[in-house]
Amino acid sequence: MTDGVYNFSPGPAALPVEVVEQVRKDLPSWSGLGYSTMEVSHRQVDFVRLMDSLEEDLRFLMRIPDDYSVVLVQGGASLQFSMLPMNLLGDGTSADYLVTGTWSEKAYKEASLAAPNGIALAATGKDDNFLSIPDRESWRLNPQAKYLHYTHNETIAGLMFASPPKVKVPLVSDISSCILSLPLRVSDFGMLYACTQKNMGPAGIAVAIIAPEMLRQCRQDLPSMLSYPSYVQSRSLQNTPPTFTCYVLALCLQWVRVRGGVSAMEEINRDKAQRLYEMIDASDFYANPIPKPSRSICNVAFTLANPALDDKFLAEAGEQGLANLRGHRTVGGMRASIYNAMPLEGVLKLLQFMEGFERRWRQ
Ligand SMILES: *Cc1c(COP(=O)(O)O)cnc(C)c1O
Repeated sequence: MTDGVYNFSPGPAALPVEVVEQVRKDLPSWSGLGYSTMEVSHRQVDFVRLMDSLEEDLRFLMRIPDDYSVVLVQGGASLQFSMLPMNLLGDGTSADYLVTGTWSEKAYKEASLAAPNGIALAATGKDDNFLSIPDRESWRLNPQAKYLHYTHNETIAGLMFASPPKVKVPLVSDISSCILSLPLRVSDFGMLYACTQKNMGPAGIAVAIIAPEMLRQCRQDLPSMLSYPSYVQSRSLQNTPPTFTCYVLALCLQWVRVRGGVSAMEEINRDKAQRLYEMIDASDFYANPIPKPSRSICNVAFTLANPALDDKFLAEAGEQGLANLRGHRTVGGMRASIYNAMPLEGVLKLLQFMEGFERRWRQ
């Protein structure tokens, strides 16, 4: 919180205050160099050391097995939508896609452009407006698929898998909005990827974590900026990375590490989400339609019984320093994104505001 404001933005999202303070301190002169991380060469020893410690911290926090590769790629999570099938398909093989919301639908569409004829829809929740995960029995799974892609946490509706699906083919997940919010066993996955701007830094890169057997199957004839093997070989330094974003990402990872790691984050996140859902469920003024086991602990979406009050809710919340609560334009209503950097106090302040607003405006 800075200037009394809690930022509930879904992304780019709030950064830990301590990280922003550190950035302010380091801004004119990083690491005693006399210039900032925006002005440092990516070949310089201090920066290479930063990239090494960033990878080491991520490996430690997520318990990434040694034989998995970690790469940083520009283009956000959206480039991963096409880069993944480009690298793994194209030889007559195919992949299955679970569509449970806006982001997995984008991933499916982009993959279909990158690998025409190679992408199959295993199931979609579209008929239910993406408010639930389709029944496991209805999934059409190809036992020969190169991978099954799904989105662990759908940021817009606030729909989250209670646990990764158990399937016989390698699992690939977009974890953009839940990375470091809760522990996932990396060895259960063929690949994981996430953009940085939801839960661990400013926009500018995506992190991809790739199993050795997936890396071995990657095409070797792609342009280097689209090739996972090239990023692995160059340790993500084949061209100039966004140095400032990498630096803030490194600070965020240290911040999580100092606070007890991902399990400690999960405990706080579940507490924050539970308090919000309990209040929403207990009221007929607010509502959340998602079945309890599939509710997100990162993005809590809710509607007002009377949508005519939406603008008033947002304006009054804003006046009290509760910023960016408007839901995504495709679903309306409200959404509180409560990633790692949102302290419990921010959620308590929101709850207090919601209770007061209900008292004042209930018919
Ligand atoms: C935000 C988001 C994306 C898109 O990320 P960009 O970096 O803007 O491409 C993809 N998937 C999920 C789950 C997201 O939350």
